[in-house]
Amino acid sequence: KSGFISIIGRPNVGKSTFLNRVIGQKIAIMSDKPQTTRNKVQGVLTTNDSQMIFIDTPGIHKPKHKLGDFMLKVAKNTLREVDIIMFMVNAEQKLGKGDEFILDMLAGNATPVFLVINKIDQIHPDELIGIIESYKERYEFAEIVPISALQGNNVENLLATLSKYL
Ligand code: GDP
Ligand code: MG
Repeated sequence: KSGFISIIGRPNVGKSTFLNRVIGQKIAIMSDKPQTTRNKVQGVLTTNDSQMIFIDTPGIHKPKHKLGDFMLKVAKNTLREVDIIMFMVNAEQKLGKGDEFILDMLAGNATPVFLVINKIDQIHPDELIGIIESYKERYEFAEIVPISALQGNNVENLLATLSKYL
């Protein structure tokens, strides 16, 4: 099994931390060259039964300046072509405008979207249910997986669940 996974989410939610944990710091940094219109491979994870190619999709973040139609089209097409979209959010932050922008962009897309709620080490376990409910109202996610990319909580479970969709 092999497939492409696009990791999207607002800045500082923990995308790089996740990649560094599962793939290794060196690879993530090595491929971290600025690119504008092409997708960049951030790392490849090979396990016993699967190969996951994680890519960054430029143009997904809410732009400071108006995005050209071309960039927007490229980004949307990419999200259609990948096997899984990993939408990462910060458990400490409420659903904000940056998330709305991304969720609007996902509307009508048939690609399965994982909601990955990161930084659960920063919240009380009781808070998780409310957080999940607020996102469920807004989008029909294929899976919702809480993790701590920094401490590693539930990361193995996330990888196993991703692998099921490849
Ligand atoms: P990115 O912009 O989405 O790539 O976010 P980064 O991976 O650069 O992380 C932004 C900040 O959040 C860094 O200071 C990380 O150490 C921190 N961070 C990432 N994941 C976690 C987590 O699970 N728990 C906590 N407490 N901090 C995290
Ligand atoms: Mg990053």
